[in-house]
Amino acid sequence: MSIKSEIQKFKKILPKNVKLIAVSKTKPNEDILEAYVAGQLHFGENKAQEMSEKFVSLPPDIKWHFIGHLQTNKVKYITPFAHLIHSIDSIKLLGEVNKHAYKNQRIVDCLLQFHIATEETKFGLDLREAQSILDCDYFKTLLNIRIVGIMGMATLTDDKEMIRKEFRYLKNCFDELKAEFYPDTDSFKEISMGMTDDYQIAIEEGSTMIRIGSAIFGARNY
Ligand SMILES: *Cc1c(COP(=O)(O)O)cnc(C)c1O
Repeated sequence: MSIKSEIQKFKKILPKNVKLIAVSKTKPNEDILEAYVAGQLHFGENKAQEMSEKFVSLPPDIKWHFIGHLQTNKVKYITPFAHLIHSIDSIKLLGEVNKHAYKNQRIVDCLLQFHIATEETKFGLDLREAQSILDCDYFKTLLNIRIVGIMGMATLTDDKEMIRKEFRYLKNCFDELKAEFYPDTDSFKEISMGMTDDYQIAIEEGSTMIRIGSAIFGARNY
């Protein structure tokens, strides 16, 4: 199947409240343009420099999502233009994003990344850590960032029930934070969960953003 037909397939099958993020990491600009011409505007990247290089050479109306682990010294590359940063996993990183967002006179939308998988290798917060970020006085001074939801990656496994449990846990964390910190804030509404192999389960469990790479662009060669 072509990139174009995959994009069209997703547009047809996705519920209205679920946004498709086409994960274009490692893929060339021609592939991104093929998806763009098919009507796809939201793209995800996991390396700061790669994303900023693609940003300058591709159409300006593309919305760039940063989905990888973000080091504080790379924040400056993406904060001038990022549409959404999915991978905030510390108050220090959030402070750094705020600093560069202020310099660029922007308010940058961010998600808190949760660790829901059993693998140690995946980054992210637990519920208590997320609560302590949203609760601290320093957080309340960060006026150039806005937390619009949370993100998580399930364990890489064939065990569908395990994946479902992890996504359900993430949805519960979202509901807790919503009730505690954002009961009257409509913009806190995103749950970024689901990739090529598990997006159907993620949607059933309440995902609002799925991050799809290989199903659209084919396997990646690293
Ligand atoms: C690579 C990546 C994806 C997309 O993975 P596929 O399995 O190719 O769909 C989604 N989310 C994150 C955080 C990624 O790094």
